[in-house]
Amino acid sequence: MSHFPMMRRFPQSGMAFLLLMLAQFCGCATQNVVQFPDHQPGEPVRAVIFKDAPEIRSLADRARTIGNESYPKILEVLGEKASEAPKHFDIVFQNHASMKTLMNDNSGGFMSRGTIYLGLDWLTNSPEKLDAYLVHEVAHVAQNYRWRKTPAHWTEGLADYATYKLGFTNDWACAECSAMYPHYTSGYSCAAAFLLFMETNYNPQIAARLNQELRRGKYSDAFFKDATGVELGDLWQAFQKTPAFTAGAADILKVEESLGYVNGRPTAKTKADAAEKLARARSFAVIEEHPGGAVIADTFRFLKNLREDGQLPGWKKGEKGHVEMFLNKTELSTPPTYPFRYSVTLKKNGDNLVYHYTVSRETEGATWKLEKSWCTDKGGRLIRDF
Ligand SMILES: [Zn+2]
Repeated sequence: MSHFPMMRRFPQSGMAFLLLMLAQFCGCATQNVVQFPDHQPGEPVRAVIFKDAPEIRSLADRARTIGNESYPKILEVLGEKASEAPKHFDIVFQNHASMKTLMNDNSGGFMSRGTIYLGLDWLTNSPEKLDAYLVHEVAHVAQNYRWRKTPAHWTEGLADYATYKLGFTNDWACAECSAMYPHYTSGYSCAAAFLLFMETNYNPQIAARLNQELRRGKYSDAFFKDATGVELGDLWQAFQKTPAFTAGAADILKVEESLGYVNGRPTAKTKADAAEKLARARSFAVIEEHPGGAVIADTFRFLKNLREDGQLPGWKKGEKGHVEMFLNKTELSTPPTYPFRYSVTLKKNGDNLVYHYTVSRETEGATWKLEKSWCTDKGGRLIRDF
C-alpha cells in the first residue's frame, strides 16, 4: 500500500494552490542484496536490497534492526497470531519509491506483496524519518489483507495507529486530524487518532478487533456499533470535541460540507470543480497550520486583496492567475522573524510573463507593505519595474 505521508508543493490556480500527486516508480539497475550472514530463520527481515552506495549501508543496517524489532510488537498491537501472519519480509531501498510529494521532494514508501519499498533519495536527506515510515510499512506486512476488500482509510489508520503505539511519530503527522487528513475516511493520522480515542473511551481491544474484521474481508461500519455499543457517526461526533480534532480539520470539513461532501466523500450534489476547490482550501490550510506557513499565507492574502481591488501593479481588475511557488519544510516550520520580508511569484492566465512582488511587515500584526514589483520573462530577464 502506498503511503502518502504529506502532500507538499503548491502550484496552480486563482492565487491558490492545487495538490499534485505524481507516482513515480523506477526499477533498480544496480542492486546490492544484503543477505545478512548472521540471519536467523526466526528473524522477520530476510534481506535488505539497495543501490550500490556505501552510505546506505548504515540505513540498511538500521532498517534491519527496526524491522526485526518492530514486527513482533506490531503483531501484538494488532492482535495478530504470529502463526497466521507472514513470517518474513524484504526491504528495498530505491529512488522514487513512492511519489513526488507536493513540496517537491520524494517521500515515504510502500509495501507490495510482502516487500517494503522505501524512497532512497528521500531517506538519504531525511534519515531520521526512516524509523516511523518503516514501522508504518511493517504494519502493512502484518496486516496482509485482501486489499481490495478493505477500506483503505482503516488500513492506513491502523498502520499509523501501530506506529504511534510503538512510540514512533514524526513532526508532520501527529496522532490527530488536521487539514491534510481531516476525516477518519482520510485514513492515516486521523483514522489512527480516532481509533486511539475509541480505545481509551469505549473498547481497549478496538484495534485488534478491527484488524480481525479487516483480515476476514467482512468489514462494514456496523462493526463499530458492535464493538463499542455506539454508532460510528456518534463516535465521530464525540471525537470531534477532543483536542486531537484540530481547527484545521474543522475548517476543511466545513469547506467539504459547503461543496456537498458527506463523510469526506463526494455526493450527487458535489459539482465538477469541487475537488479542485477543496484541494486549494486544503493546501492553504496545510500551509497555515505551520508557524512559517501562516505568515506566508498572509502574504498571498494581501496580494490577492490588492489584485481584487485593482491595486496590484501589472494587473487589471478582474485578471486571474496563480501563485507559483515551492515551499520547503524548513520555510514552513521556521517561525517568522521581524521585520518580515517575502517575495511572491505570480503567473497571469494567458500571459507568459512572471510577476514578482516583495512584501514586508514591521511586526506581527502590522500592515503589509508592497516594497517592490517587477516582471521578468520566463528566463528571469527583467522586462519591467513597476
Ligand atoms: Zn500505508
